[in-house]
Amino acid sequence: MALIVQKYGGSSVSDVAAMKRVAQRVVDTHRAGHKVVVVVSAMGDTTDELLDTAAALTDQAPVREMDILLSAGERISMALLSMAVNELGVPATAYTGAQAGIRTDSHHGRAQIVGMVPERIARAIHDGQVAIVAGFQGISDDDDVTTLGRGGSDTTAVALAAALNADVCEIYTDVDGLFTADPRIVPTAKRLRTISQEETLEMAAHGAKILHLRAVEFARRYGVPLHVRSSFSEKEGTWISDSPAHPDLKGLVPDAALADPQENLMEQPIVSGIAHDRSQDKITVTNIPNTPGCAARLFAIVAEVGANIDMIVQNVPVLDPSHANITFTLPEGDAQKTLEALEAHREELGFNELRYNPNIGKLSLIGAGMRTNPGVSARLFGALSQAGINIDLISTSEIRISVVTKLEDLDRAVQAVHTAFGLDATESEAVVYGGTGR
Ligand code: ASP
Ligand code: MG
Repeated sequence: MALIVQKYGGSSVSDVAAMKRVAQRVVDTHRAGHKVVVVVSAMGDTTDELLDTAAALTDQAPVREMDILLSAGERISMALLSMAVNELGVPATAYTGAQAGIRTDSHHGRAQIVGMVPERIARAIHDGQVAIVAGFQGISDDDDVTTLGRGGSDTTAVALAAALNADVCEIYTDVDGLFTADPRIVPTAKRLRTISQEETLEMAAHGAKILHLRAVEFARRYGVPLHVRSSFSEKEGTWISDSPAHPDLKGLVPDAALADPQENLMEQPIVSGIAHDRSQDKITVTNIPNTPGCAARLFAIVAEVGANIDMIVQNVPVLDPSHANITFTLPEGDAQKTLEALEAHREELGFNELRYNPNIGKLSLIGAGMRTNPGVSARLFGALSQAGINIDLISTSEIRISVVTKLEDLDRAVQAVHTAFGLDATESEAVVYGGTGR
């Protein structure tokens, strides 16, 4: 018997038929003898619709009220799914984030989990119930409802799995798992059978939309094995784990996941996949005095407005090292306020021009094998040059190389690099069942 946390995304519970299908899967898992905790997202596009409704009323919705509103989407799902499971003859009880003991800080709209006291959940499953928890929400020290940021139900699920010491956290979505690239762009993308948490973290941090970044961080920190799979099929999905799965899960997991990942190292490809990101913008500050403290001051101003910087590149002309150009990328939603803040400090910073380019795309090639294999960048740049695609910025980590291109070149870039690294499947195997990737 295992303790399994199952998380169902919005497209898996989009209507009554989908809800019934999920209820059946939950019941099947329970009847197979496992303890089951379910985390649900809001049905279909509910969260977007709630946001639109609020926006039609005001463009200054108080953040506290916004969180109460958005948390309602997940509450509808949890109550309906609980009814559907009870209808199939298995006792289930629904809990809000607060009732499930998910304590957060009070940053409305992007709250961080600060404590987990899932006593009622533990008691419910001990009593043979299925516990159904509303995703994406918690409660602050002031007893206010908070939400964890878009896509946050993944984090609810992994945090619960960690706190309850679950054997596995299953993330149900509308695709069959993690792919070597987004199948919507690369139809020949292959499903990954297994991938390390470290690589998944890089994927999620660099645009792959399959998992909430903080969920992967939690999974890694607490060693929770994740299984990302489709709720629309019985197919095996992708196992995300740095250690072999619990032997109790035999029959529930593929032999590949039970095997020691070290054993398969020989077969490991150098790169695991390609992530892409269209949501970043680029700002260049030209001719800023190249003196100690200049960059510190510049980025202190950027930090003050709460912008989350990704890449930073500084250029100092060899012939005139007295001034520098500093380029950085940031989420598109942060660009306007950053430009305004920098403009307001123009004199103090002493720069010449602020250049802004929203039409950029980022491709990231990710693979733990890069550590020990030379020539990866040469192959990447070669593939892009053959496709006639110009590289704007480059950044690397131990297991990732990212390049920025023109936005309109991004899809072609991803396709070219996918082929160059031998990732193409001979036959298309990616099936997209829903539409949202959630
Ligand atoms: N319903 C929320 C959203 O759409 C949370 C989630 O689905 O994970 O972002
Ligand atoms: Mg999601």
